[in-house]
Amino acid sequence: MCVDDSCLPVEQKIRQKARSLGIEKCGVIKPEDMLDYADKLRERMSRIPDGEAVYGRFVGFADVRRSFPWAKSIVVAVTRYGRYVIPEAARARYGKSYLTDSRFNPDSPERKILNSFGAYLEELGLKTAFNEHPGLTAMRWAAHKAGLGIIRRNNFFYTEKGSWHTITAWITDGEMELTERHDLKECPSDCNRCIKACPTKSLSMPYTMNMATCVSKLTTSNDQNSYDDATNGQIGAWIYGCDACQDACPMNRDKWSEADDFPGLEDLSPFLSPEKILAATYEEIERVLSRKFFYINKESLWRWKLNAINAMVNDYRNVFAPLIENALRDEYPIVRERAKRALEKII
Ligand code: SF4
Ligand code: SF4
Repeated sequence: MCVDDSCLPVEQKIRQKARSLGIEKCGVIKPEDMLDYADKLRERMSRIPDGEAVYGRFVGFADVRRSFPWAKSIVVAVTRYGRYVIPEAARARYGKSYLTDSRFNPDSPERKILNSFGAYLEELGLKTAFNEHPGLTAMRWAAHKAGLGIIRRNNFFYTEKGSWHTITAWITDGEMELTERHDLKECPSDCNRCIKACPTKSLSMPYTMNMATCVSKLTTSNDQNSYDDATNGQIGAWIYGCDACQDACPMNRDKWSEADDFPGLEDLSPFLSPEKILAATYEEIERVLSRKFFYINKESLWRWKLNAINAMVNDYRNVFAPLIENALRDEYPIVRERAKRALEKII
């Protein structure tokens, strides 16, 4: 007779380990459980302009066995970031998932937990593959398939604690399965608050979001495309990311608890305002902001200045004018041009 957990099925060991580490939810699915993701994605692609160009590259997420022929299971872990204090300077300007991003951040509590969990899977003798960015499969669909929660009309994955979660997946060579049950209800039939809240109408109907026009994409783009004034106006005060469709959701009401400090976030807060960004040198922007907010690459730091100017114009105060005038002498023509257009608009 076993007196410890050594004779437990491997799935139960994984579940116990996840719980002991503080992972909110954990499940294991078979690679073939993901195959219907391709149909869902194609359905979405058919509903937006240039759908193939926007989402076609993700079709491969439906079958991890193409890249990993040895794959026998996908382990999915859900951790919650909706528990951190958000600095005032960042509220409604930065997507909260980016402020508390555990990816590539060795100081993040979630990163430490997930590292320990990944190491445990290997201790069990499993061969694993892991990639936290851009990922190896469609995380939300995998978490849904494992029974860990549901995907709501705004396309975000929800547990009983709302949508403020990170989903992480490991591909393994172990024949395993561990699915959970939940009693989350579907979205109310008459609710469209997320769609109404979307500033660019990127979320145009339930489960239909055009990534190409999502503020999260627009504010983190490394392309030298300068958006038209109408789009710049719609972006509002957002500088990096957007939470509008999650903030508006009644299923997220009172689900964010500011219980803990995220390492380094308070120290970063003086640098997050549009005034500070516009006044900063590119060396400062790279040193202070690039490590954390990695979607804007080092060759495209001008994006930060465009976003800062945009946030100022859309939430204008007179003190911003001299800062925008200084940007007329910026080293990047695209920033000078945007500053010129901004001044024409506000003066
Ligand atoms: S993140 Fe913002 S822009 Fe993107 S779909 Fe949601 S509300 Fe719309
Ligand atoms: S706002 Fe309403 S429709 Fe949108 S995800 Fe939340 S509950 Fe569903």
